[in-house]
Amino acid sequence: MPLSAEAAAGAPLNRDEREPKPSARVLVVEDEADIAALIAYQLTREGYRVETALTGTVALDAVHRELPDLIVLDRMLPGLSGDEVLQSLRADDATRNVPILILTAKREQQDRISGLELGADDYLTKPFSPRELVLRVDAILRRAQGELKPIVGGGRILRAGPLRLDVGAHIVTLDGDEITLTPTEFRLLRVLMERRGRTQSRRQLLSEAWSVDSIAAGRLQTRTVDMHVRRLRGKLGSAGDRIETIRGFGYRFRTELG
Ligand code: CA
Repeated sequence: MPLSAEAAAGAPLNRDEREPKPSARVLVVEDEADIAALIAYQLTREGYRVETALTGTVALDAVHRELPDLIVLDRMLPGLSGDEVLQSLRADDATRNVPILILTAKREQQDRISGLELGADDYLTKPFSPRELVLRVDAILRRAQGELKPIVGGGRILRAGPLRLDVGAHIVTLDGDEITLTPTEFRLLRVLMERRGRTQSRRQLLSEAWSVDSIAAGRLQTRTVDMHVRRLRGKLGSAGDRIETIRGFGYRFRTELG
């Protein structure tokens, strides 16, 4: 009897303990071939299926051939600019809703905001770390999928002492007792726990835990983060001390309580 493809490939080990592998299709639009290759390499390693386009025109052709799950779009492209590609995608009913992560070399706040106003889901300023890019892509897709359907089944579990955060089920417990968090508090805690031991700036936390729409609308300021962290700490009770204030910069989730 012939082996099924799955059996031939070997049964996956410890599937429950692994992050579910994304198989989403990502289109990377970047004219600098080295950067495009680096991004493609990193995303492929994380399980994404990646296609690259070196110009805006090629990108639009690719999108209309098969709609990707997400587009990483460099702003500075020869010919058709990233902004023009973005506008074109947002103006077309067929492509209006595809999530877009903008890469921009421009550091000015005004430029970043205008990118979001054009309809990008998030932006990343060059130079960026490949890891950061993957995290942003993960986050955008998670949000996009969350809007379409509830996440079912078990996901990843983040643990710190008596604190347990179930990523898929959106449940946080302390010593087995469920803690009720708002969606923003949940995302905030998740980001901090995922990056435990590393300081996260208020701005990073804003971009990860809040909707980019609110940020683009200018409704959020970094002190919003302080307010939410304060409330989150209160709700976490004895585990609240794990969220450490790094004065003048941001917050860090402590791996061990000293
Ligand atoms: Ca470029």
